[in-house]
Amino acid sequence: MSASNAPSDKFEQALTLAQETLNLLTKTRIPPIPPNYAVGYSFYDGTVREIHDVIEERLRSGHGLDENLMLALYERYILPDGYERFRSVRCDLERLLKTILKTLRTADGDNTEFMRVLDANIQALDGAQDAQALQSIAKTLLQAASEAQARNQALAGELRAAREDLKNAQSELDKHRRAALIDPLTGLYNRRALEDLLAELWAAPTPLTMLVADIDHFKKINDTYGHQVGDVVIRQVADVLRKCIRGEDYAVRYGGEEFVVVLPDTDLAGGLQVAEHIRQRVSKLRLVRKHDNLAIDAFTLSVGVAARRAGDTHETLFKRADEALYLSKSGGRNRVTPKV
Ligand code: GH3
Ligand code: MG
Ligand code: MG
Repeated sequence: MSASNAPSDKFEQALTLAQETLNLLTKTRIPPIPPNYAVGYSFYDGTVREIHDVIEERLRSGHGLDENLMLALYERYILPDGYERFRSVRCDLERLLKTILKTLRTADGDNTEFMRVLDANIQALDGAQDAQALQSIAKTLLQAASEAQARNQALAGELRAAREDLKNAQSELDKHRRAALIDPLTGLYNRRALEDLLAELWAAPTPLTMLVADIDHFKKINDTYGHQVGDVVIRQVADVLRKCIRGEDYAVRYGGEEFVVVLPDTDLAGGLQVAEHIRQRVSKLRLVRKHDNLAIDAFTLSVGVAARRAGDTHETLFKRADEALYLSKSGGRNRVTPKV
């Protein structure tokens, strides 16, 4: 047996990691409550690469850590609940499919097609890595169960029950899916959701306009007032976006202080109006830091706007809006620029 596997070594290693974690939390004035501690510990033991990278970058850039970040990392990467629930829905689905399949195999009637669908989906379950994949399996099965139910009176009762179970599984998966698509800091959609939204909206033949917005000199806000104030600024801008769009529009936090707004059924002129409205409202925001009543300097937003053209892909539309944003930045910031 090698010495490194000895239990006392493990203890010593864990103790060293615990001490490093406590030092970090003390230095950054983050209360060592379990979620914060767990994130700190994962940073040092390196088991969750994403946590390690985010924290390292924060420390490296001198932005430090805060409780919001720790909580977001905890919920995203450590909280077992989401994954456990996902696994348990997957097990439920698998059990359910196998039961139905068994019932069908012993019953008479023309269920060949339904059995084929079931078989295929049991196999697909193995490869399902996220709630979205499971949801699509549940959807296929729900439809197949409905069709088979219509065909086969003898099995009507069981299929009805199966359909109920599938519906429950689907609504559980819906919740997961929504949570995975929301940015925890602002409540806006996240970058991953943007892909889905565009895929859904793209088929409509109506105009579609995209705004890409970025807070001006945001680094200075962080540097002057601290990262927590930076986070508040991001949330305030998110609120403005929410207030300036209609029900069918989407606001997305694309990255740190960068946002995307998708306006279906809106042409370039309409998009420019919305962008200008957002820009003005952001420039009028006035914030006061809570603990010392310090008035935060006003801040501004630069926006680029592009409308979908024939032959555009998601990427080319985004690229034009992003180029327009760059023009707003190079033109002096706090402005809206279209790119036709
Ligand atoms: P520009 O006007 O050219 O956009 O300048 P900028 O300073 O806004 O741009 P830059 O991209 O240099 O800085 C963005 C900063 O945003 C750097 C990064 O540390 C910070 N940041 C990224 N994500 C977050 C976050 O979630 N919260 C806070 N407070 N800061 C963040
Ligand atoms: Mg910026
Ligand atoms: Mg930026």
